[in-house]
Amino acid sequence: MKISIIPELMHTLLQKYFGYTSFYPLQEDIIKEVLGQRDVFVLMPTGGGKSLCYQLPALLFDGVTIVISPLIALMKDQVDGLLANGIPATFINSSLNYDEIDARRRSLSNSEVKILYIAPERLVIPEFLQFLQGLKVRLFAIDESHCISEWGHDFRPEYRQLKLVKERFPAVPIMALTATATPVVQEDIVTQLKLSDCRIFKASFNRKNLYYQIKPKDNPYHQMLRYLEGRRRDSGIIYCQSRKTVESLSASLQADGYRALPYHAGLTAEARTENQERFIRDDVEIIVATIAFGMGINKPNVRYVIHYDLPKSIEGYYQETGRAGRDGLKSDCILFFSYADMFRMEYFINQKTDDGERQAACRQLREMANYCESNVCRRRLLLAYFGERFDEPNCRGCDVCLEPKERFDGTIAAQKILSCVYRLGERFGITYVIDILLGSKNKKILQNQHNTIKTYGAGKEYSKSQWQAFIRELIHLGYLRLDGDKYPVLKLQEKCRKVLLSSEKVFLTKPEEQISVQKIDPGEDYDRMLFERLRILRKTLADQEGVPPYVIFHDTSLKEMSAFYPQNMHDLQRISGIGEQKLHKYGEVFLKEIIDYCGQHPIKSKPVVRKRPESPVKQPRSPTVQMTLELYQQSLTIQEIAQKRNLALSTIISHLEKLILNGADISVDGIIATEKQMHIQQAFKESGMEMLSPVKEKLGNDYTYDEIRLVRAKMMSTCEKKGFSYL
Ligand code: ADP
Ligand code: ZN
Repeated sequence: MKISIIPELMHTLLQKYFGYTSFYPLQEDIIKEVLGQRDVFVLMPTGGGKSLCYQLPALLFDGVTIVISPLIALMKDQVDGLLANGIPATFINSSLNYDEIDARRRSLSNSEVKILYIAPERLVIPEFLQFLQGLKVRLFAIDESHCISEWGHDFRPEYRQLKLVKERFPAVPIMALTATATPVVQEDIVTQLKLSDCRIFKASFNRKNLYYQIKPKDNPYHQMLRYLEGRRRDSGIIYCQSRKTVESLSASLQADGYRALPYHAGLTAEARTENQERFIRDDVEIIVATIAFGMGINKPNVRYVIHYDLPKSIEGYYQETGRAGRDGLKSDCILFFSYADMFRMEYFINQKTDDGERQAACRQLREMANYCESNVCRRRLLLAYFGERFDEPNCRGCDVCLEPKERFDGTIAAQKILSCVYRLGERFGITYVIDILLGSKNKKILQNQHNTIKTYGAGKEYSKSQWQAFIRELIHLGYLRLDGDKYPVLKLQEKCRKVLLSSEKVFLTKPEEQISVQKIDPGEDYDRMLFERLRILRKTLADQEGVPPYVIFHDTSLKEMSAFYPQNMHDLQRISGIGEQKLHKYGEVFLKEIIDYCGQHPIKSKPVVRKRPESPVKQPRSPTVQMTLELYQQSLTIQEIAQKRNLALSTIISHLEKLILNGADISVDGIIATEKQMHIQQAFKESGMEMLSPVKEKLGNDYTYDEIRLVRAKMMSTCEKKGFSYL
């Protein structure tokens, strides 16, 4: 079978069946390759538009496309979605009885089906294989193909059997798809599936619409409530480390009036399915879950993912945050970071008896912590972790790029903390020290007679969470460390001496605890009242049909309707995501709602103008960084700049670091002696660029973190100019 196809036909099908006007990156090339009957490997992040890569060609084949997917629970929704677009699709799995399966097999034999979804375990039933061999199978699409690899995070033994596909159907092309970003797993997939001479299509793993934020975990529940306030109708996932936290957090949220449900492996299978289902159908907005939740959740309108506890690895974090914003609309990824969490996790890791496992877990945790503490753009680090370069000076989507921090002279606050730790004999943890500073009347303090020590009640000028942030920073700066087997206590480090004797100043970050809410961008300019009405209409229709609301229309379509107020079928068809079938089926009801609404409010419809992809505009630097640059260009020394701006030296250094990373021409020669620079470079080459502390350890006290950071920035920027990356 040879298909020669003109691109216009592909575009016609794209509009007719899916209601889209253009392809996402790579989709068109991938489809052409499949039509040329070659094996392809599709690497795209979640939301990249993988499904269309096999769904559209399936329409062009004269036979059937078999989609292998691990999640039986999802198949019905996927098939409903296709049927809603007028594409003949079906699934066969264990949820059906014998008669239903038989009926579906008959329509397959009669060539009435274009796409068939099955689970891998079905494929190896000899009788079923034989049945498939009797059909005109034109393509195998293996979704979530990373499940075949033991190196991945979702290994499923039943996927191993998929080796069989190539053996039994040597003439049928295979399309393997995954959102896994790690190269080892990618290689493994190609080998395991025996993909021969396949073309690999790799999209960027940058998720432009996700806003990454990391917040100090001081009073996370309170911080979270402040964020959730005002977004009660948005869907979100909250990830926790333990089942216990999942239970208590979802109960608290319910008590606070949120529709939230728990999900973890300790619940019965029925309870899990039910809770997941209710989340997907927009009956509840929030799911509080352990990492057991999420694989294959293709709910497109998850508006935020919150990590209430520290994730175990960067890879896990990327996958979990990736579940936000699949529909391409702006979404938030918020992580609460605390050293206490890290400490606790380290404790558990150290219980592992297998050396290799323990070391690997430790390394992953350190990388994760390093990501959280870093002053480098989150997006850049995340992508670098997966071997992808990101060169934009400002990503416009992370807290480092959008919320630069400033430092102040925190010597007095530091002295209070350090002296308190000293007077307590270095035998107590963070909370206890803070209780003393705030003059708490807690029983234990009174019993220990610690209400008599000098620093008792000496810290009322700051809140509990501010003290926590200061202590955390003192740990990070090496003045304090946490120590102890079960219960971490604060210990003084040698460096403290000078601070306690007032011969050295300490600069600390100005406290902040609020989660920033994404600014509404022009694409978000729509009528919220109409959107709400359309959303209610959609939910009613969805419940009537027993499908998730997104099967009817995605949020993107409803938002466009609420921005353009289409008044007739012709205008409506121009809205993204409305193909012929949906226009026919739902067009009139939605039009009526819009027209009614316009009648009640003095509104004129606007011509439907399709948004063009934005061209990358260089973001202006933040004003404070810009000011530092200007003074630097006037040849002031960094000490002079700090003095003039009344900012800490380290703040100025962090501005310079940013400027260097963003490609500004800044020399560090006047700041760090050449010989020192060379030593720092050497140390980075030996221990890798990711972490500062090993380099600092290697070099000792003659080198400051500031110097090390600046040299690293310089190394990273020169490497990039040469076209290779250290990270
Ligand atoms: P993935 O499986 O890679 O996570 P999906 O196939 O679920 O991605 O697609 C993500 C979202 O993008 C879906 O809402 C889908 O309808 C939408 N989409 C896919 N291709 C296009 C396109 N060419 N134009 C507009 N939207 C698209
Ligand atoms: Zn950034």
